[in-house]
Amino acid sequence: MKTIKRDLVIIGGGPAGLSAAVSARQNGCDDVLIIERDRILGGILNQCIHDGFGLHRFGEALTGPEYAQRYIDEYEKMKGDVMLGTIVLNMDANRNLLVSSRKGFTKIEARAIILAMGCRERTAGAISLPGTRPAGVYTAGAAQNFINLQNIMVGKRVVIMGSGDIGLIMARRMTLEGAKVEGVFELLPYSSGLPRNIQQCLMDYDIPLHLSTSVVKIHGKERLTGVTVACMDEKFQPIPGTERDVPCDTLLLSVGLIPENELSRGAQVAIEPRTNGASVDDTLMTSIPGVFSCGNVLHVHDLADSVSEESALAGQFAVSYLGGNITPPVKKVPIQPGDGVRYVLPQAVSGQRDFTLSLRVASPSRNRIVTVKDGEKEVARKKIVRLHPAEMIHLKVKAEKIPESGKLEVSVA
Ligand SMILES: Cc1cc2nc3c(=O)[nH]c(=O)nc-3n(C[C@H](O)[C@H](O)[C@H](O)COP(=O)(O)OP(=O)(O)OC[C@H]3O[C@@H](n4cnc5c(N)ncnc54)[C@H](O)[C@@H]3O)c2cc1C
Repeated sequence: MKTIKRDLVIIGGGPAGLSAAVSARQNGCDDVLIIERDRILGGILNQCIHDGFGLHRFGEALTGPEYAQRYIDEYEKMKGDVMLGTIVLNMDANRNLLVSSRKGFTKIEARAIILAMGCRERTAGAISLPGTRPAGVYTAGAAQNFINLQNIMVGKRVVIMGSGDIGLIMARRMTLEGAKVEGVFELLPYSSGLPRNIQQCLMDYDIPLHLSTSVVKIHGKERLTGVTVACMDEKFQPIPGTERDVPCDTLLLSVGLIPENELSRGAQVAIEPRTNGASVDDTLMTSIPGVFSCGNVLHVHDLADSVSEESALAGQFAVSYLGGNITPPVKKVPIQPGDGVRYVLPQAVSGQRDFTLSLRVASPSRNRIVTVKDGEKEVARKKIVRLHPAEMIHLKVKAEKIPESGKLEVSVA
């Protein structure tokens, strides 16, 4: 088997990998390689043909492919190196990669690696949906791929389970393609998608959103004939007597995304259970020196723009590491989620640099203050008018405020 040595290898050529690669080149690394299993760069954005990407990054409403192309063009201008149609099969803790392509297997010894593998969708099996397994049950992303990339319409009468953003976008897409969307059924008492998508994808098209309601059974032998839905109690159990049948030929699942961390787990990268992504410090470095993580494989983002911003930092820090400018921190102060916070990222900081904290709240609320505290001492705060679990919150923290020891806690009051 052929063995090659590279300075920086980026696994995944979606918006995270592309932004990290462009940034690494801009920060002075000449030996950057993106490895992408698909035949084209762009990741999942290739199938997101609606607009709304790039409002923060470029001040324009771009489609997913247009947004990705901006980075592809920039990377091509730099004569950036890419291996397409190539999958990374294995990574070890010494940053050795085993990759497979039509040319066979190659071993790559990397001085630094950026993990940018994105995430995948939860399926009917993953949520143990009761009932038969007829044709017509898709994840929302699979249906998006069929319609937008392969020109295949997946059904005429649709139920959407879960109100994640991909499901909301597909409710609108199916309607525009002539299907009847019976409704979106969400287990939680609030939507798990962005408020702007509720307005633009459901309300603008008179598609009903049923909160605290879920699909409890699938019907049909060859093809889906309908589903049973029921109202849920506060323990997410069906309330007896509330069941009703909804005839449909298509069920789209939008019930959550799972970061693709099989390679990371194989290399014994420490995984944070709250995000299902790697546990990282303020340089986005994982528990393995020289291995960084960014984008949806690190934590599921709400906007591609914030994926790009975070990944540019990963590229910059990977170059600093290669130049010997990131030395193991003298101290690492853990950051933990407190009251009202679902998760925080990074999970530990060195105090050597300012950093931006990313967090998600546990439930919707209004007019609250997010605080970062070292015991009783306040380190940072931000007043927020509308808080929603679907919207990520970012908070800048100054290096000089980081304590010498102990831990930081982030809470909503
Ligand atoms: C189905 C779906 C639809 C979405 N729709 C929207 C939307 O409409 N609007 C929106 O704002 N956001 C949407 N998102 C969120 C969007 O994915 C993220 O904002 C952004 O694409 C994440 O970028 P990423 O680079 O981290 O991941 P991705 O875009 O998923 O890119 C990851 C890349 O890594 C590659 N890869 C993975 N494993 C390997 C391996 N072992 N070897 C080689 N290559 C590998 C994959 O092929 C992929 O190209 C959607 C997400 C999904 C899953």
